Amino acid sequence: MQFNVAQQLKSSIGSNRSYRIDEAIDLADGGKDGCFLQGGVNLLRTDRGILAMGNFETGVRLVCSRCLGLFHCPLRLTIEEEYFPSVDVVSDIPLPPPEEASAFTIDRNHILDLSEATRQYILLATPLKPLCRPDCAGLCSYCGHNLNQGHCGCRTLIPTTVSGKTGTGKESNNGTST
Ligand SMILES: [Zn+2]
Ligand SMILES: [Zn+2]
Repeated sequence: MQFNVAQQLKSSIGSNRSYRIDEAIDLADGGKDGCFLQGGVNLLRTDRGILAMGNFETGVRLVCSRCLGLFHCPLRLTIEEEYFPSVDVVSDIPLPPPEEASAFTIDRNHILDLSEATRQYILLATPLKPLCRPDCAGLCSYCGHNLNQGHCGCRTLIPTTVSGKTGTGKESNNGTST
């Protein structure tokens, strides 16, 4: 996810380069094992630096919020971030930091590193209440069995309580009709 943009910083505004991305990246906190990233990135020379625009497909391993099972959650990322040079590419003189504190910078060796932006976009794209599948059946509230793996047998308990309630209702109905 690192690109040497020294040549591009010397070229005119509007010049752009495209790269294919096909690599594993490490997520410090998000995923347990590094996730794989595929897609393309376009680097555009702007008046201030380099605008990186990327489209990636990746995925993270998440715990389902309903059944607590681990699953692979595919993610689509559309990244658009401007990177500001930290030194002048011709004179090597340090440049003032960008106005926005959160802006990304190109290091003094003219390396543009997309890893941190990608990590942030992955965190943003990760659902807060992930589901292993839209119709995840969840866990049995009686025994904790994962209902995606079939019924646990507790179901027979539920109708008993329901029929008990309707039974009392019927009794009173019968009382008024006769
Ligand atoms: Zn689930
Ligand atoms: Zn059960």
